[in-house]
Amino acid sequence: NPSKTLEYRIMPYGEDHLLLIARDVTRLSQLEAMRKDFVANVSHELRTPLTVINGYLELMEGLDNTNPMLSKAINEMDAQSKRMKSLIEDLLVLSRIEASAERIHDRVVNVPKMLGQIESEVQTLNKEKGHTITFHIEPDLQVYGIETELRSACSNLIFNAINYTPNNGTIDVYWKRAQNGVKFAVVDNGYGIEQTHLSRLTERFYRVDKARSRSTGGSGLGLSIVKHVLSHHNSKLEVKSKVGQGSEFSFRLAAEMVSEN
Ligand code: ADP
Repeated sequence: NPSKTLEYRIMPYGEDHLLLIARDVTRLSQLEAMRKDFVANVSHELRTPLTVINGYLELMEGLDNTNPMLSKAINEMDAQSKRMKSLIEDLLVLSRIEASAERIHDRVVNVPKMLGQIESEVQTLNKEKGHTITFHIEPDLQVYGIETELRSACSNLIFNAINYTPNNGTIDVYWKRAQNGVKFAVVDNGYGIEQTHLSRLTERFYRVDKARSRSTGGSGLGLSIVKHVLSHHNSKLEVKSKVGQGSEFSFRLAAEMVSEN
């Protein structure tokens, strides 16, 4: 039946037989598709009212407020509605990547150029934190893939390193040839993460230290976005971390992804 979604497993059976097990996951995948649609629609619908609220709050901030209570309230509302906006943007990005059927081998991404652009954004934002951020980029090392997705994965990892490293830290970003392909890595000397959390980091809204994460203003969706981008590019996120010493977040792309021109 072509309208059914089946999942197959092959297992050894006796000496010289194989057993093929087919499971009907039609209902499950329908529910999954409905969930994705729902999240995408809700995020989209929330965007418009929030834009209006943001606009009026900005207007109110500009007014001559003599009541300190009132201006404090307006500032706080403005900060929180901006947070909600970035949360919704991240949910939309995630939905888009989940739904993306774009082929990864059609286009070449100039990663060195892309990382150069991210570097200038990063250095501006880093002023408050005072980290020493160094980009070690192998020039001419390009890959096949989807630029918006790879950009989002790389910047999420770099911004996390900035956020989860105490002021005046050291962050190194690498883009280099590695065994059987290329490797992107971000190494920080920040807070680090306990081993028990590592396997759950890419779950939606999973955060190790709720209080600290909230103060950084992130959405808890960053690593989930990274995971989806990487799985679309046939790769996966690798994390090494030691509490109090720092973390390394990296991924590799296979040699067939490297574009030799
Ligand atoms: P967010 O940063 O918005 O909370 P993410 O999905 O990007 O969400 O990250 C999930 C959690 O993983 C963060 O809340 C933080 O606890 C932890 N984390 C991510 N990157 C790092 C890092 N470089 N060092 C320490 N902890 C990190």
